Parts: sequence; C-alpha cells; structure tokens
Amino acid sequence: MYWGSVRFFKHLFFLALAIILLVPVCLAFYHMSLNARLTEELITLKAEIITDRIQLQQNQTESMGLSLLQNSEGKESTYNFDLEYQNLYPDLCISDIPEQSGSTDTVYLTFDDGPTTLTRKILDVLKEKEVRATFFIIGKNLETEQGKQILKNIVEEGHSVGIHTYSHVYNDIYNSVEDYLDDFYKAYDLVYSITGTKPEIFRFPGGSINGYNKTFYKELIAEMTRRGFVYYDWNVSAQDAVGKITEKEIYNNIVNASKKKTRSIILMHDSLEKKGTLKALPAIIDELSASGYHFESLTRNVAPVIFGYSD
Ligand SMILES: [Zn+2]
Repeated sequence: MYWGSVRFFKHLFFLALAIILLVPVCLAFYHMSLNARLTEELITLKAEIITDRIQLQQNQTESMGLSLLQNSEGKESTYNFDLEYQNLYPDLCISDIPEQSGSTDTVYLTFDDGPTTLTRKILDVLKEKEVRATFFIIGKNLETEQGKQILKNIVEEGHSVGIHTYSHVYNDIYNSVEDYLDDFYKAYDLVYSITGTKPEIFRFPGGSINGYNKTFYKELIAEMTRRGFVYYDWNVSAQDAVGKITEKEIYNNIVNASKKKTRSIILMHDSLEKKGTLKALPAIIDELSASGYHFESLTRNVAPVIFGYSD
C-alpha cells in the first residue's frame, strides 16, 4: 500500500522541500524582471520630462523675444529665464569670460579680508620684492578714508582687486542667491566708484563650497558666472585664518605645499591682526623665487583653482 507508507512520506517530504526551495527562487526571478521593467519605464519617463522641460524653456525664451544662446561650439543651449534673481542689478554684469590659461611655475599670492593698515605694510614688501599679488577686499573696510586710500594704493601699485563681499557675515550673505547678490553689489559698486574700474574677479568667503551655502552653491556659482565674474578658490593655504599660528608655521605651510605644485593660488589674510603673515612674507617670496617660481596677479584670463562640486 503506497498511501501512508514510509515511501509516501519520503516523497511528500521531498516535494515539500522542493516547493520551499523553488518559491523564493521564482520570487527572486519575478522581482528581477519587474525591477528591470520599472527601471526602463523610469528612464523613459525621465527622458520625457527632460524633453518637456527643454520645450518649456524654449517656449519661455521665444515668448520673451530672446533667441537661444549659443555656446562656444555654436551649439544651442537653453536657459531658464524664470529665476527672479537674474533680473536683479542688471548693471552687475560684465563682458563674457575670456579664454583662460595658467602658466606653469607660477605662484599667485592672494590676500583676503583687507584693506587694513596691515595691507599697506604688505604692499611695501611686495614693492620691495617687485612682486604682483591679488587682494580680495571686504567692502565695509572701504567706508573709511584710510580704507579707500589703501584700495587706491593696491591698484596704483599694479596689483589686482577682487570682491570678497561687503559684510563678510556668512549668515547674511549665504541665505540665498538674492542676499549674496545684494551684498556683492554693494562692494562691487564701492570698488568701482573708488577705483573707476569694475572688479571682475571674486572670492567666496569660506571658499565656493562651504557649510553655509551647501544647499544652493550651484545656483549661486551659475548666477555669478552668468554675469561674467570669475571666482578663485585656492590650492595652498597659509592657514592663518584661525587660531594662533607662528610666522614659521605660515612659511612652512606655504613653501612646502607650493613646491609640490606647478602653479599655486595661495590663500593668505591681510586683516589687521595677521602680523605673522606679514613677517613670513619676505622669506616666502625669496624661497619660492629661488626655487624658480614667478609671481603673478590674478585676472579673468587666469584659469582658476576651484573646489569640486561635492554632489
Ligand atoms: Zn574672508
């Protein structure tokens, strides 16, 4: 008798085992095929959304009576003209960014947070050493006659001037693109009225990507670039911004790092208390000159060092 026999239960056991093993395998295959189908549908949908968006932007562009912008290769590109901050400060716009290059064995000394009376002393060192540098200035430092005069000296003595915002208050300037533009324009306008020259380069306080602007840094960079301004981060730092640092440490930070590079954009500070930076400067210039480097100031023609997008 088969039913109820030991053989019957053996077969029943193996059948149950086969079902237990087979079900998850089948389910896994089913999910894999479902996943592949959904991914394909998602890609199609994304492509449709992009096509629709491009169409919408083209319609907006045409309805505004503007022709499509051409990039350098002559290919058409679309612009979103729906961003209100693009209409702010129409005169805060300079010519197209020129072709940029960066010569080797070059050092770009840059000083942030001036002008102060320390800046005047730094200018004297640079004059003595016959070296050109770049000063990223804070607009509010130009409210005094002394600040204005030192800014004029910077220009007269052949150095470059860039904007480092008006207030330098991170919580205010990094609220939104609008807030950044409001602040930047104030500094830009002041520098233009004092020197008669429109500043074309700038440095973001804290660098282009920092803890304060991480939610909108791409929009901010795109907007500043659209207006023709070029920003410079750095690849060598004196590390003189925070805490106590000695003249020797500043010298080592700059000289050791610069010698590992063919071109360096060096971050230093000329705020009033940075006496170590001033003291270290002559020896830094001497050592890098002796090592075959030459010094230049930044203009929009110089290829920038910029921090990479983190996402
Ligand atoms: Zn700064």
